[in-house]
Amino acid sequence: MLTIQNLNKTYPNGTQALNNVSLTLEKGMFGLLGPNGAGKSTLMRTIATLQLADSGTIDFDGIDVFKQPQELRKILGYLPQDFGVYPKVSAEMMLTHIAKVKGITNSKERKNYVADLLNKVNLYKFRNRNLGDFSGGMRQRFGIAQALLGNPKLIIVDEPTAGLDPLERNRFHNLLSELGENAVVILSTHIVDDVTNLCKNMAVFNEGKILVQGNPQTLSDTLNGKVYRKQIDIAALDALENEYTVLSNYLRGGQFYVSVYSDAHPGEGFELIHNDLEDFYFYCINKKEEAAI
Ligand code: ADP
Repeated sequence: MLTIQNLNKTYPNGTQALNNVSLTLEKGMFGLLGPNGAGKSTLMRTIATLQLADSGTIDFDGIDVFKQPQELRKILGYLPQDFGVYPKVSAEMMLTHIAKVKGITNSKERKNYVADLLNKVNLYKFRNRNLGDFSGGMRQRFGIAQALLGNPKLIIVDEPTAGLDPLERNRFHNLLSELGENAVVILSTHIVDDVTNLCKNMAVFNEGKILVQGNPQTLSDTLNGKVYRKQIDIAALDALENEYTVLSNYLRGGQFYVSVYSDAHPGEGFELIHNDLEDFYFYCINKKEEAAI
């Protein structure tokens, strides 16, 4: 179990990236959902022992992450947002090298282990290809393979599906959901669908703060019967925003729509819709902005 308590971090330029963050995560996939700049990467890097917080504690199954970073690193798998690859090195060579660094010293054992891993992420047939010639999806799967080395008990995946095509994304998701069976997996993302599809638990995170934590479906259901949609002229959006709690606006089939939150029927032209996690997410983020005004 991962327990984060009262974590604070302010960068030297004055940006408060973590504001009293407390979270408890059990085995399985946990989605940390928030817009760009919310502080997700800061939190991920802090848990991954790559930077320190100003105050607060992180404990993973009895390991004090700030006091025993080496202990945590032994059981950690980390797939950062951007990871460099050595373009002229093959996938097999790179994984073999990391396996050596991680302490798998017996060469036969290491060879089998790397082959298993390459199979798992569907890259075995590309094992001799240079990493620089990999597609975005293959690179991500390679990233997962290196994060999986050493059977980690805590896996951190930061904004993983940016730049993947739908097929690659799907494959990547299947792989991730398998991981959640034996480890605590934190998926940090701004893509609501990824959380809907993959996570049993989640938190909405914005401006360094946890706004809410729970099961995606349960959270989404709290808005049942309160989300309405209307097709409007794009020019009418400003006026509508003054009158209603607008959750989102979007184009569908070339038509412009808004969805609004309302306790009662908001008036002519609005229809009640089957709301989803995206509506809930926008509701949380908008509510936060209102509170800040
Ligand atoms: P996210 O991953 O949700 O996009 P980040 O953790 O990257 O958010 O950033 C949170 C906030 O902290 C942003 O305002 C960002 O500009 C700022 N920030 C991130 N890293 C640094 C840094 N090294 N120095 C100063 N500000 C930073």
